[in-house]
Amino acid sequence: SSITRGVTVKIPKVSWEDIGGLRDLKKKLQQAVEWPIKHSDTFSRLGISPVRGILLHGPPGCSKTTLAKAAAHATQASLFSFGADYYSMYVGEGEALLRNTFQKARLAAPSIIFLDEVDGVASKRSGNSSNQVTVEERLLSTLLTEMDGLEEAKGVLVLAATNRPDAIDSALMRPGRFDLVLYVPPPDLEARYEILQVHARKMKVADDVDLQRVAEDTDLFTGAELENICSKAGMLAMRENIFEPIVCDRHFQAARTSSKPALTQQKIE
Ligand code: ATP
Repeated sequence: SSITRGVTVKIPKVSWEDIGGLRDLKKKLQQAVEWPIKHSDTFSRLGISPVRGILLHGPPGCSKTTLAKAAAHATQASLFSFGADYYSMYVGEGEALLRNTFQKARLAAPSIIFLDEVDGVASKRSGNSSNQVTVEERLLSTLLTEMDGLEEAKGVLVLAATNRPDAIDSALMRPGRFDLVLYVPPPDLEARYEILQVHARKMKVADDVDLQRVAEDTDLFTGAELENICSKAGMLAMRENIFEPIVCDRHFQAARTSSKPALTQQKIE
């Protein structure tokens, strides 16, 4: 099959276990994603409609994209990603791509459409007095039309991510659109420990490594930054032994010392 610019059609390999922490959130998401896809008949019988859209919000690097992948994997759904690049295209181009993505997703159902940085499409209309319809307004109205059209489509779910939930146009939050809003927080101590374990389990690690201590020493680090500490530690071990690297405590310590979190206490919602 051909790959249409950035639209990937595949079932990701990431599973829920690859995501550290976020136990309750994973459970909620699992239910919201699996029920409509696996039990759509039950919904019809009861005459209720399942959630069509889920909005994930929270700081960057805390697994919103990874959650979308795990959701697709768990339901064996194809994942169609629509990223920030498309929001700044020439007039008409972004809309055509968006319509095309929905069309493909309907044909490939069960499927999940992931809209990354959705505030780029759907930020609050500025309400300026000009009569010009902006590129953004046209994208938003396309998105609204497509989401309303999903009423008849079975097994298509829209997951969207943003770091700026307050910037989302309220039209998207009406019933039948993004009915479920989930906050994806930065990891607490226990979650950091689990995230470090997820990424360290792919490497050969020495007995002296104390991931609990690394977790305690990484307050405010995101999942992405913790993954980066593991990669750095792995690289340091490789420098010592390129054939059979064994990652030791000193590698983790050095990796930690050379890293700094981007989040500050104030930035956490
Ligand atoms: P952005 O807002 O920047 O798009 P995001 O919230 O979508 O970020 P991801 O892209 O899912 O974050 O995460 C970035 C990387 O960090 C991923 O490669 C993932 O492996 C790692 N990561 C983040 N959170 C976790 C977690 N809870 N468990 C394991 N890995 C994580």
